[in-house]
Amino acid sequence: MRPTSADVDPASPARVLRSARPAGTRVNVGPVEIGGAGFVVVAGPCAVESAGQTESVAAAVAAAGAHLLRGGAFKPRTSPYAFQGLGEEGVAILGRSGTRHGMPVVAEVLDTSQLASMIDHVDILQVGARNMQNFALLRALGKVRRPVLLKRGFAATVEEWLLAAEYLLDGGNSQVVLCERGIRTFETATRNTLDLASVALVKQRTHLPVLVDPSHATGLRELVIPMSLAAAAAGADGLLVEVHGEPEAALCDGRQALTPAMFSELMHRLPAVLAAVGRSLHPRTAAAPAVRAVSP
Ligand code: PEP
Ligand code: MN
Repeated sequence: MRPTSADVDPASPARVLRSARPAGTRVNVGPVEIGGAGFVVVAGPCAVESAGQTESVAAAVAAAGAHLLRGGAFKPRTSPYAFQGLGEEGVAILGRSGTRHGMPVVAEVLDTSQLASMIDHVDILQVGARNMQNFALLRALGKVRRPVLLKRGFAATVEEWLLAAEYLLDGGNSQVVLCERGIRTFETATRNTLDLASVALVKQRTHLPVLVDPSHATGLRELVIPMSLAAAAAGADGLLVEVHGEPEAALCDGRQALTPAMFSELMHRLPAVLAAVGRSLHPRTAAAPAVRAVSP
C-alpha cells in the first residue's frame, strides 16, 4: 500500500524517493556495502560457460580488486538458438568461484521458478533489462531476503524504472540497487546509449544506490574504460563490468568484454577520478562472503 500524502498522483513513486530516506540506502552484501562511501566494482563474465572459464575470470578480477563477481546462468537471449546458459549448474559454479575468491556473487533471475535453486548460491539477484517490468517477478522478489539489482529496461523512462523499484520496496524488500545499462536511441554506433544524466538524476530523486554497466551500454570493449571513468565522475556508486579471459571465444557478448589486463587497467585508473570527486574505491576484503553457506 502506498504511503498516503495529499496532492500527489497516488500512482507515482513514493517509497523510493529520497525524501523517504534522506540519508540514503546502503545495501550490505557480506563485507561489501553498496551505496556507502566506497565505490564498488562488480565484474565477471556475461555468462558462466564452464567451471574453468568462470574460475579463471574470478581469479583475475579478484586479483585486480573487484568486490563482487557476476555471471549469468539463466541467460535472456534474443534468439532462442543462442546459448541459454548453464542454468542451475552455472549458479553453483558461480557460487563456488565467488566463495573461493572472497567475492559475493550476482546472477540474473529470469523467472520465479528459478528462485528456489538460486537463493542459496546467489548474494544479489539481478533483474535484467528485459524483465524490468515483469511485475510478477518483482512481486516475488519483494518477498525474498536477498538484495536485488534492478537494471533499467532499454526502453524505460526514469519514472518507469523507479516504479519497478517501488514494487520491490512495496513488497517488503528495501535492499535494492539500481543499474543504468544504456537505453535504445536512434544511435546505432554503440549498442545502446549510456544515459549518465539519468544516473545523476536518480541519485538526487531516490535514496537507492545506482551502478553503471558500461558493457551493455556501449557494446564495445574499447569504450568501457572511458565510460566507467565518466560514471565514477558522475556520482555512480559503482560499476558492473563484463570481463572474459578470451573475449573472442566468449559464448555471449564477447565484443564488449574487457580482457583481464584491461580490467586491471580500469582498476588502476579509477582511484584518481574518484579522488577528484571526493570518493574512493571500497576496500577489498579477502573475507569469504558471510551471507550464504556454500559447500566447496
Ligand atoms: C547481463 O547483465 O548479462 C544482461 C543480460 O544485462 P541486461 O539485462 O542489461 O541486458
Ligand atoms: Mn552480457
